[in-house]
Amino acid sequence: MTQEKYTSQIVTARTEWIPGKLFSIVTTRDPAFEFIPGQFARLGLPTDPQADPAPDIWRAYSMVTPPQANELAFYSIVVPDGLFSPRLHDLKVGDTIYIDKTAFGFMTIERFPQGGQLWMLATGTGLSAYLPMLNDPQTWRQFERIILVHGVRQANELTYQDDIARFAQVHAANAQQFVYLPLASRETLPGKPQARITTLIESGELEQLAGASLDPAHARVMLCGNPAMVTDARKILADRGFAPGRRGVAGSLAVENYW
Ligand SMILES: Cc1cc2nc3c(=O)[nH]c(=O)nc-3n(C[C@H](O)[C@H](O)[C@H](O)COP(=O)(O)OP(=O)(O)OC[C@H]3O[C@@H](n4cnc5c(N)ncnc54)[C@H](O)[C@@H]3O)c2cc1C
Repeated sequence: MTQEKYTSQIVTARTEWIPGKLFSIVTTRDPAFEFIPGQFARLGLPTDPQADPAPDIWRAYSMVTPPQANELAFYSIVVPDGLFSPRLHDLKVGDTIYIDKTAFGFMTIERFPQGGQLWMLATGTGLSAYLPMLNDPQTWRQFERIILVHGVRQANELTYQDDIARFAQVHAANAQQFVYLPLASRETLPGKPQARITTLIESGELEQLAGASLDPAHARVMLCGNPAMVTDARKILADRGFAPGRRGVAGSLAVENYW
């Protein structure tokens, strides 16, 4: 990658959600860097900054912050043997990070027609892509109802609770408009089944919990995170008639695999 393709930014804050496992970083933002909620950036770091400070490892990260924010935030897992995420985790406030000048990705609400229900299904850090959409007034104007489903293993991985509570509060005038369904597969959450998202789609239980039906006539679904969940859910939903948009025709399904 040539120098012109990326900018150098500074880490301004970090949050450790689960020490050594889940964290967020905030960085300065190039004023020319533009994106649509749901898109991702390519972040770069050097393998060995002492030997050569130029970035040579690049990874995709969804923006957590909305496009109007002055800074960028990213939410990350630490993959213990990973090349990039442990280095990202080691960054301190004041350290340098490199960000590709272009934002990428097609999992955006522009893919869907006006109206109906938007189902945002995420596993783990897949939540990140939905946060800027939930921060965007256009999302709330476009859909009659928004159902956020976050599947994790343990309850302490249910991060960004303050933001989610704020979305619910801001849109409390229409109590039906926002449904948040946290799900843990290895722990019992009060009033929630201990199960994976795909199991609950297949059994129809997810629709019961949300009080809405997964029917492509009025539902639009986004899938984000673990590729096994995305592949399985995509197949179940395809059997029900959900399909991505094609050649200018709006679809009912949009996905983003995180690895
Ligand atoms: C479009 C896109 C958007 C992404 N957005 C994010 C994001 O917002 N936050 C984030 O943490 N990651 C995100 N990722 C994954 C990220 O790019 C890196 O893969 C991840 O940070 C690990 O990098 P690594 O070099 O340490 O390990 P890698 O060598 O890249 O990955 C090693 C293994 O770790 C596992 N893994 C990778 N990413 C994750 C993950 N997010 N959760 C659980 N297991 C994982 C997989 O088994 C993978 O094979 C995204 C990936 C894509 C393609």
